[in-house]
Amino acid sequence: MTSSPRTVSILGVTGSVGQSTLSVIEDLRGQGAEIEVAAVTAGGNLPALADACRRLRPKFAAVADPDALAPAREALAGLGVEVGAGLSALEEAGARPSDWIMSAIVGAAGLAPTMAAVRRGAAVALANKECLVCAGPLFIEAAKTHGARLLPVDSEHNAIFQVMTHPDRVEKLTLTASGGPFRSATLEAMGRATPDQACAHPRWSMGRKISVDSATLMNKGLELIEASYLFGFPEEKIDIIVHPESVVHSFVHYVDGSVLAQLGTPDMRIPIAYALSWPDRAPVSTTRLDLATLGALTFEAPDAQRFPALDLCRQALRAGAATTTAVSAANEIAVSAFLDGKIGFLNICRVVEEAMTALDRSDPGLIAKSPTSFDQVAAVDQAARGAAQRIAGRLAAA
Ligand code: NAD
Ligand code: MG
Repeated sequence: MTSSPRTVSILGVTGSVGQSTLSVIEDLRGQGAEIEVAAVTAGGNLPALADACRRLRPKFAAVADPDALAPAREALAGLGVEVGAGLSALEEAGARPSDWIMSAIVGAAGLAPTMAAVRRGAAVALANKECLVCAGPLFIEAAKTHGARLLPVDSEHNAIFQVMTHPDRVEKLTLTASGGPFRSATLEAMGRATPDQACAHPRWSMGRKISVDSATLMNKGLELIEASYLFGFPEEKIDIIVHPESVVHSFVHYVDGSVLAQLGTPDMRIPIAYALSWPDRAPVSTTRLDLATLGALTFEAPDAQRFPALDLCRQALRAGAATTTAVSAANEIAVSAFLDGKIGFLNICRVVEEAMTALDRSDPGLIAKSPTSFDQVAAVDQAARGAAQRIAGRLAAA
């Protein structure tokens, strides 16, 4: 296992991607790989953090809540782990030396710790979407300046990365989408959809926010933005195709008509293992693909009328960097209003669309230019959240 990095860190070790990363590391260690863990972080789940520390034996563990230092020290007592709490501790976890780091904190909270890792030139396995969706140009530029390697973990982007053999000879990319739970639902049925129905994803088991995003196809729109920044393609060179089996994770189309794809069962341990062992491949005991049992793979065009999120994200990409930050923030507000039972499913995209129009009218300068700092990203994020709150409030009262 000579190609495995010697020292790794995991931001968001208690989450779904964090736990899958832990499991891949244990698998490789069980085969004799020497992997040391420099740092791990968690939001607030101390029992899960303690379990991860017992298994990984990191040198440093950080919790998000600044008031949780004493209980965290107690929970991790006897494990030989140095403990930190608060935003600066999360950043320290990103900044501490390691060859490789998993960025798997959910949301904008992941930006600063991930940037700390980018600034020290680490290999950064990027699961967190917000780094690119909210601050894509900042991350791409910083990675270039500091010699950091961004290794995509989102399954579609990881698939493209795996088959990106000739970056200068690519005609277009195609991202696959499962289609979510409402792939063949009528608009009327979608209008009546409950949070539980929207969260019942047919293929992947994920948190509620990303599950609702998969139901509206906003997740695919955000992934289109992610792909555009990551691989340097304009939106018109990135297609989306619905592929309900979720076996082909994306396609790269080359100038000679060849199309390369990466296939695998819908198991996040596969892209994580690839990012961890890159540029090699490591033997990992993931669920294997059985094509004969599967029988057929199907594809269909997405329905733009029932899933307006895709066009919204394309418009945002065309409009410029701050607009993608605003779409992501407005969507977060709309999704929580839906999950709280305040607005209907079809109003999620309506809130995002109206918030973009309202922002454009009230403060056109704000979203017209590319943010050059996290402070500017935060200003756009706040303005978009405010606009979305007002619109969601109005729709809830109607
Ligand atoms: P999750 O909610 O299961 O875990 C998130 C982690 O972040 C946890 O460790 C949590 O404690 C921590 N966290 C939450 N709020 C925090 C805060 N304010 N400060 C610090 N830490 C905080 O999420 P997940 O499903 O593992 O997803 C992580 C990221 O990866 C997301 O950006 C998601 O979009 C992306 N992603 C996930 C999947 C998947 O299959 N789950 C696939 C592709 C991409
Ligand atoms: Mg994905």
